[in-house]
Amino acid sequence: MFWNTPEEDNDHYESYKQKVIQLKTKFHEEIDYIRSVAQTTVANWHEYLKTVEVTPVGETQRKQAQDTGLPVPKIAFPSEYRAVLVILDIKMQHLVDDLANEMRKANANKTLDLLEEFVSEYLDRMIVDELKRYLDASKPKISVSDIFANASTSLNKYSTKEVGDKSYSIKCSSCGAARLEEDQYDECFYCGTPLFSN
Ligand SMILES: [Zn+2]
Repeated sequence: MFWNTPEEDNDHYESYKQKVIQLKTKFHEEIDYIRSVAQTTVANWHEYLKTVEVTPVGETQRKQAQDTGLPVPKIAFPSEYRAVLVILDIKMQHLVDDLANEMRKANANKTLDLLEEFVSEYLDRMIVDELKRYLDASKPKISVSDIFANASTSLNKYSTKEVGDKSYSIKCSSCGAARLEEDQYDECFYCGTPLFSN
């Protein structure tokens, strides 16, 4: 019954609001760190991958991308970058869940709204947006939207060799790369995005 719910007093509100702000700050710091370490050196990037338990892609995969005409960043391969984002997302979701539970127990409804806003406006789109940003930055001359445009024409420069080949007809919705015949998994070999989502 709503009259049993204690009103959120100001101190209460401020303390939870601070926690939401801290969470956002932490999130932005981590994203900034990932962005910067992906631009340092291969050694630094691999060191970072080790800390988050992501296995770097092998030379074969890099060569495959090159052969297909995809830009291959010297440091962070797109699927490695996405794997790191997935780990950050899981970590952040846990922190959000913990804080949300704490707020629910305290009937901190207004601050719960702030938290949900952060989730729907940033966190839910983080992997897609951040990967897109990275792919854009990896190829200065061709933007992701150009790839989308290319993907819809028969002259898709990323799969010119394979046009007409049935096994190459599936394209990644994130980066536009064609699915390779050798792909063992239902994930894009280039950026790691699942090719079939439900
Ligand atoms: Zn992809």
